[in-house]
Amino acid sequence: MESRDQSNLQLKKASSCYSSIIEKKQTFSPSVIVIGGGFGGIAAARALHDASFQVVLLESRDRLGGRVCTDYSFGFPVDMGASWLHGVCEENPLAPLIGKLGLPLYRTSGDNSVLYDHDLESYALYDIDGKKVPQELVTKIGDVFESILKETDKVRQELSEDISILEAITIVLERRPDLRAEGLSHKVLQWYICRMEGWFASDADTISLKYWDQEELLSGGHGLMVRGYCPVINTLAKGLDIRLGHRVTKIMQRHNGVKVTVEDGRTFVADAAVVAVPLGVLKAKRITFEPRLPEWKETAIADLGVGTENKIALHFDKVFWPNVEFLGVVASSSYGCSYFLNLHKATGHPVLVYMPAGRLALDMEKMSDEAAANVAYMQLKTILPDACEPIQYLVSHWGTDINSLGSYSFDTVGKPHDLYERLRVPVDNIFFSGEATSEKYPGTVHGAFSTGLMAAEECRMRVFERYGELGQHPAIGEESASVSIPLLISRV
Ligand SMILES: Cc1cc2nc3c(=O)[nH]c(=O)nc-3n(C[C@H](O)[C@H](O)[C@H](O)COP(=O)(O)OP(=O)(O)OC[C@H]3O[C@@H](n4cnc5c(N)ncnc54)[C@H](O)[C@@H]3O)c2cc1C
Repeated sequence: MESRDQSNLQLKKASSCYSSIIEKKQTFSPSVIVIGGGFGGIAAARALHDASFQVVLLESRDRLGGRVCTDYSFGFPVDMGASWLHGVCEENPLAPLIGKLGLPLYRTSGDNSVLYDHDLESYALYDIDGKKVPQELVTKIGDVFESILKETDKVRQELSEDISILEAITIVLERRPDLRAEGLSHKVLQWYICRMEGWFASDADTISLKYWDQEELLSGGHGLMVRGYCPVINTLAKGLDIRLGHRVTKIMQRHNGVKVTVEDGRTFVADAAVVAVPLGVLKAKRITFEPRLPEWKETAIADLGVGTENKIALHFDKVFWPNVEFLGVVASSSYGCSYFLNLHKATGHPVLVYMPAGRLALDMEKMSDEAAANVAYMQLKTILPDACEPIQYLVSHWGTDINSLGSYSFDTVGKPHDLYERLRVPVDNIFFSGEATSEKYPGTVHGAFSTGLMAAEECRMRVFERYGELGQHPAIGEESASVSIPLLISRV
């Protein structure tokens, strides 16, 4: 697939590893280039490889996984990107694989958990002066927040044009003085808004009222991947021809094929391509399409929102915090609020993960890692004055990393919800996958995974159709349907 001389060499090398490919090539073996080695790309590459395609996966980073990034530098796994399986249930497209691998999950919130997570099962909130917020107040304001969100639905019904969820909340509070909160209650309300902003990785004034609740929430609550997501990626990637450090810059659609150019000028050719790079990368036009993508596709790329959420993991030599899942800091604006995920509860390791989102996350990306870790530590110190200094820290930069340019997608104000689907729809022999192409489960690992399988199946259909081979091969997923092994949940 790679043109020039070394391509034959590389192909020979690749195929020598996989004798099954050679056998299949003697019969019929179409080729595909998958661009991007996150869940969306690897799922597509795995499925197409298993469907007898010659697959080359080009990944710009020197590692696989994309926005799934399990770091082992503390001596144990810490997920700096995705860490939850949202929807711990058999219907989750990833459940069969995670179940088969026997990877444990730690459930942080239960079945009736909603988007804004206000029913987190165990958490402690503190005021900026270090005083603990009474639990009854936290629960009460959680109920108020739920009522406010229900009222925003009425605002949505009344308005023809879209507004932001923050504007809708303001309208509700003007109409319903009984839902207004003052003093500490107001700060707790801001904390709930901050959690909501974390879910969308964006500020409440940018999130669409019309579509904020349109994604499909699977049942079973949210389960932390106790050993990290990396083993799942490694399993999917086994035996695939993966080229790390290959940053794609150009995709040319040619008669019955594609030609893909990487940063150093090398080119690869194949029958089709699956583009599985993040929405942020497409928005920044870091890849040129020739001919240009159709207008409806370019508009979808421009209009769909991508937000930023980061993680600052602080490793301590001992645990000095209460045994809860989340520690929260309340403040008079959602920007001033924050929260820490207590990994000790789920994994036994003394780690707290600070998770800023939206403008706060972007502002913190402008700092050095040391300064960012210090901000997180200072937040901790204000609520727990006896906090000792971290012995190690890790800081993510999903907003500015040129391989992601954002954390995950969300519906912006005034734009249609079908943008996810428009982003997914193939353009001739170029297929698209990744979280931002998932109308059902945007912004998630299982969403990215399922769109990878969808892209693979569409690619298989199209290519086999062209060669008159369609009936000769099973559909993707047909052969792999296997006995389901229940998920291992360490906290039911
Ligand atoms: C901090 C954070 C927390 C999250 N938490 C959760 C969670 O708990 N649960 C959950 O379900 N989801 C979570 N998500 C979202 C989840 O991580 C993503 O939805 C999912 O991993 C996206 O997969 P993807 O394949 O679409 O994209 P990616 O994983 O980003 O993969 C795209 C790949 O393309 C590569 N690439 C980029 N440019 C090029 C190029 N020019 N050429 C070649 N390759 C290129 C990238 O390096 C990357 O490997 C979180 C995300 C972040 C950032």
